[in-house]
Amino acid sequence: MRNVVIIGSGPAGLTAAIYASRANLWPLVIEGIQAGGQLTTTTEVENYPGFRHAIMGPELMSEMRAQAERFGTEFLAGNVSAVDLKTTPFKLVVEGVEIVETKTLIIASGASSKMLGIPSERRLLGHGVSTCATCDGFFFKGKDLVVVGGGDTAMEEAIFLTKFASHVTVIHRRETLRASDIMQDRAKMHPKISFLWNTVVQEILGNPIVTGVRLMNLQTGSASVLPSAGVFVAIGHSPNTGLFKDQLSLDEGGYILTFGGSKTSVPGVFAAGDVQDHVYRQAITAAGSGCMAAIDCERYLESVGH
Ligand code: NDP
Repeated sequence: MRNVVIIGSGPAGLTAAIYASRANLWPLVIEGIQAGGQLTTTTEVENYPGFRHAIMGPELMSEMRAQAERFGTEFLAGNVSAVDLKTTPFKLVVEGVEIVETKTLIIASGASSKMLGIPSERRLLGHGVSTCATCDGFFFKGKDLVVVGGGDTAMEEAIFLTKFASHVTVIHRRETLRASDIMQDRAKMHPKISFLWNTVVQEILGNPIVTGVRLMNLQTGSASVLPSAGVFVAIGHSPNTGLFKDQLSLDEGGYILTFGGSKTSVPGVFAAGDVQDHVYRQAITAAGSGCMAAIDCERYLESVGH
């Protein structure tokens, strides 16, 4: 049986692993589908303290992983498919077969990209529809592209895509962006980026690859078609909490509720990072909450006479 299992290998999970392994708890990190988390799909991270000239997201995660490994963290590649938190030790099923038992659990399973929810989007995912400009932008050299969303992610994706695309149209459902001022300014001043306001994507067109989008203006009700080789959906994220919904207290958005630090509604289960934070959602805040979870976990184990 394990002392601590950590679900997730983004900044929250790996920071928890660094602290738990330095406390001699020999943690096991179950890495999940996207090992390294959301930062593995970004380019330069300019706001993580300690890197005055920025660091690439994948490099930051690989450094964190090596740091956790150095202190004795073990890693298991794979995804948790079921959990039983009703009795102790807690039981986790990995990839439908392997059963892992643990005294405590730190959930750092992060969040995933939200989708528009129109049928053509699923059909064309990977065939012109993407949620990751860093991963897929390269395939659209010299093409006209669409980015959907009005937050920082949408601005970042649009700016990044200008490296490849001939033009990027940002489609936003309101006429005010949610993005920070600095990101808005960069996007609005970019000669290759234009905006369509009060507009939603009704359908993504093309078969077998994307050729355009059918749009509707919410103010006038008028429909139009915009030719485009790619559609980048950047409308935010949902927490990866499906496994826990009947076992832990969640808020109305599905985020894990934490009390007094990282404690969840089940003693011995802790949560860190984007899975419990819909406000800050930064690498540094995720890392900080991973540290808190490991310390809370260590104190809990001491209190139950580990
Ligand atoms: P946000 O929740 O901030 O923004 C989501 C955007 O998508 C909003 O403009 C929203 O519209 C729109 N949207 C949501 N659902 C739909 C829908 N169904 N159809 C159409 N549009 C929709 O998410 P982000 O991922 O952009 O950012 C998340 C957090 O990460 C933020 O705190 C952000 O600051 C941070 N971040 C920071 C970066 C940086 O500093 N470099 C880079 C990327 C993210 P509406 O505005 O109308 O609600």
